[in-house]
Amino acid sequence: MRHTIAMLALAAGIGAGAPAYAITGDQPEFRKLAEDVYAYIGKLNDANAMVIVTTEGVVLVDTGNNVTDTRELLAHVRSVTSQPVRYVVITQNHNDHSGGAALVSPPATTIVHERVAKQWATLKPHQITAWRRRFPERTSALERLTPVDTVQSFSDRLTLRLGGKDIELIYVADQYNPGDIAVWLPKERILHASMAGYKDRHPDIRPDYSHGTTDGLLKQLKVYLTLRPAMVVPAHGPVGGGWLLETMIEYLLLARDSVQEMMKKGLALPAIEKAFQMKAFGEWDRTEHLPWIAATIYRELQGLGPQIITVSERRQSGVVSSALQDGRFVTLTGADGTAVRLRVTGDTNFQGIGDRTAVRPGMKVSAVYEVPEGIVPALGYDTLELTIAP
Ligand SMILES: [Zn+2]
Repeated sequence: MRHTIAMLALAAGIGAGAPAYAITGDQPEFRKLAEDVYAYIGKLNDANAMVIVTTEGVVLVDTGNNVTDTRELLAHVRSVTSQPVRYVVITQNHNDHSGGAALVSPPATTIVHERVAKQWATLKPHQITAWRRRFPERTSALERLTPVDTVQSFSDRLTLRLGGKDIELIYVADQYNPGDIAVWLPKERILHASMAGYKDRHPDIRPDYSHGTTDGLLKQLKVYLTLRPAMVVPAHGPVGGGWLLETMIEYLLLARDSVQEMMKKGLALPAIEKAFQMKAFGEWDRTEHLPWIAATIYRELQGLGPQIITVSERRQSGVVSSALQDGRFVTLTGADGTAVRLRVTGDTNFQGIGDRTAVRPGMKVSAVYEVPEGIVPALGYDTLELTIAP
């Protein structure tokens, strides 16, 4: 079965003029998928976005990985239409997909699933501050607003009929689906598959179920397959055919099987995390996500709910010794030589620089970050504040 799907993927890859197992290029790409439909393909498997142009305004589907992507995405939109952005649809509640909404909304309306709206209504003060400051030119316009003020939400399905275009938003109900939605263009047969669409990149699934579960993603994928899309825009990775959904089903089933096998042999979680390699998908990037995928499946297969993680705040000053992936991963070395690995997100507040892409080795900084109890986060500690010394 696996063999068949790999063959299909290969055939489709050749047909599309791209290798089957290539990550996206080192520059973002704006590609026309159909009349009035475009994909913004993030560089090096960064988050993708989609653009639908109508005679009654533009619909953005997600907003680009970084601030720089959102600006570039909008420049591309302006190059193909003079219509304003009227709606921003958020397919998943993570900053690499939602963070750019603040640049255009308001006046554009941001459409999210009701679970996301609920979550936005309870954002912490530092997150609201980060939202207001993300684009300096927007800070005063957003001063009296919070993200939820710009939002229209729905529970199950929503069809946008705009300038002769039908745009269907689909939520596949599941206890742990955090509000991921697919965007389906029935006439063009194009699907933005949200978090369930991943290509060439190990998905970011976590034991606190904040990115859903493998079981929930499989449910979504099965519903999306029934639409028989001609083209699929994944959350991350190259655009492909409907086979892209099948590859992801194959991936998740294999991942669940391999964790189950190890559980049957009586292996403890740390040993499972170590041995969980997904070698059949050896070309996919972000192998740092693998231990968390294993830990998530380990919980799911025991019928456990999300892992509850308590965090405490810590402060550290020092010098940036490395800044990788546009400042997403920063290592801070203190005066005593201790190094702290930080994960800098769209929720991080910056002082002294505009955003994370400006973090450079050698900068003197002080950071406030969250330390989760009892686990070492594979990607680094989530950073609340990063202040650059003048
Ligand atoms: Zn993402």
